[in-house]
Amino acid sequence: MAAALTLQLLVGGHCTHPGFVVNPRRGGWAPQQFPAMFALLRHPTQGLILYDTGYAPRFFDETARFPASLYRRATPVVCAPHQSAVAQLARQGIRSDDIGLIILSHFHADHVGGLLDFPRARLLYLRAALDPNLRRRSAFANVRRGLLPGLHPADLPARSTFADDQPRVRLPGLAPFEMGYDLLGDGSLLGVEVSGHAPGQLGLFFTAQGGQPVFLVADACWTRRAFTDLELPWPPVRLITHDMAQYRAQIHRLHALHLARPDLLLVPSHCQESIDLAVSLLQGT
Ligand SMILES: [Zn+2]
Repeated sequence: MAAALTLQLLVGGHCTHPGFVVNPRRGGWAPQQFPAMFALLRHPTQGLILYDTGYAPRFFDETARFPASLYRRATPVVCAPHQSAVAQLARQGIRSDDIGLIILSHFHADHVGGLLDFPRARLLYLRAALDPNLRRRSAFANVRRGLLPGLHPADLPARSTFADDQPRVRLPGLAPFEMGYDLLGDGSLLGVEVSGHAPGQLGLFFTAQGGQPVFLVADACWTRRAFTDLELPWPPVRLITHDMAQYRAQIHRLHALHLARPDLLLVPSHCQESIDLAVSLLQGT
């Protein structure tokens, strides 16, 4: 049996939107906070692993000038220095160099904001996640895609390996998701492609403490209601969605999975309700 991992969910800042943007039917006009979640995983022999990093204060430097400033205008962000991943880990006695591996779900700024604080970590993501045109495209076109290249380490290619180069395995009990990638080579952490919101988006499926099965789905959907009630976000959100048909298909897959596996903890990265539920379930184990 594959090793169980210990999971800790953390939040690295948040952005603010009216509720209806993610839940058009019941969200209302009042501004809501959407956490930028990241996860700390402890593997019994392979050490500490991060899944994404959340925001970090350098987001504000990167978005100070036009056109990048459009990003923070569209998505007001709060991230104080003590909320960055590296600061939160330091309070637990974990140094930046203790993180051996960072797995990236995708390259949107709210997932890679803290990457520069971990200059020694290896990076792992799906090949399609890193846009080959990033450095050639205009700053405006990058911002429209949620990308801020200034948040990427200069040596990113040298430190990167690709999830899709790891052994391809059948996903146990995760239908309609069929195939994934054995990211650590021991079956303990399986990468699952959940593209649509962004190209090459990578989710993680594993067994956490207490035998709790967990599927971290990044931005495959934004709220729990998307997969419980098939509530899709506000239609104009399609403008920032990489592939709307694929995005919808992923939500339908998550809905089917949720019905088939009520024991499975499905956690989208920006859903406070899901994070709270996960924290309470994992604390009790
Ligand atoms: Zn995203």
